[in-house]
Amino acid sequence: MTEALRRFPDGLPDQLLELDALPLLRELGRPTLIRVPGHGDLPPRAITTLLHGDESTGLQATLRILRRRRREPFDLYVVLGNVQAAAEPPGFAHRYLDGQEDMNRIFDGAPTTTAQREAAEAIRAELLASGLAALVDVHNNTGNNPFYAIVTNDRPATLNLATLLTTTVVRWEFRLDTLLDALDERVVTCALECGLPGRSASLRFAVDALRRYLGEDHLPTDRLQRDADVLGRLRRVTVHDDARVRFGGVLDGTADLVLPPDGDVHNFTEVSAGHLVGYVPPTGALPVSVTDADGRDVTADSLAREGDRLVLTRDAVPIMMTRSEDAVRRDCLFYLAEPLPSLSNRT
Ligand SMILES: [Zn+2]
Repeated sequence: MTEALRRFPDGLPDQLLELDALPLLRELGRPTLIRVPGHGDLPPRAITTLLHGDESTGLQATLRILRRRRREPFDLYVVLGNVQAAAEPPGFAHRYLDGQEDMNRIFDGAPTTTAQREAAEAIRAELLASGLAALVDVHNNTGNNPFYAIVTNDRPATLNLATLLTTTVVRWEFRLDTLLDALDERVVTCALECGLPGRSASLRFAVDALRRYLGEDHLPTDRLQRDADVLGRLRRVTVHDDARVRFGGVLDGTADLVLPPDGDVHNFTEVSAGHLVGYVPPTGALPVSVTDADGRDVTADSLAREGDRLVLTRDAVPIMMTRSEDAVRRDCLFYLAEPLPSLSNRT
């Protein structure tokens, strides 16, 4: 039987490393774990990417780093997640395939009923067994956002890792059975969000950040090293499954929610109560819901309808607003956040 996870314990062979990204993925064929042996005795580190198949920047940055064939003073693990979705023509077009699950939502320790869940469990188990010290999970966004890091706790080591990479940090309070959720008790982790895929600035940022990550021998755990802008107290805005959503155009009876095509320009900026989210029919149930990290429905406390305008009821910082109908369906519309006190005041 074919193993769900493909393994390369001594690095990626030269003939594979020389391939372009898509031919490489087609050759790999399934989730892949690569271990690049190091020369020192520092505990291993990991880079994970492609947990979402339409996010190409992390793979391209990682390949650029691997092709330099540096040996670090630690073993470097590289995980390529949803290889099948990424390789599916025309390439990097699917977050996950029909019949699959979102690969960054299945690290829940449940029985491995599918090949995809088997691969996820093997990744989790193998990384933990390696004595991993740190992990950076590289993603793209589906809308315009600044580059930022996501942390799932506010321990100094975690924040030091995040601020080594960038200066905008989102404190993630939801548990979504992500890879970070599965590891963050035992490993210093953060996600690196590299803007839209396919842009040279996104790739440049990812390469810079990963080089800093690999080049820093010690990640202090006792004190915060750098300040950053931190956002938290997240509320998740989702669109109901049966709602018809459209970006742009007017409300004309063929849509239950019409979103401004450029709604993502407000990502990571403070907007005031009354800020327009989109247009909805003036009567009937709202096509969206808002939930907080405790799972409470906070729709009425977050959104209001004024005629056919759907607006925010309070000052907030919208983040991760998408411009993709597919992302609305498969994930969410955006999050509402609040600025948290600066890190330097917390020491
Ligand atoms: Zn992602």
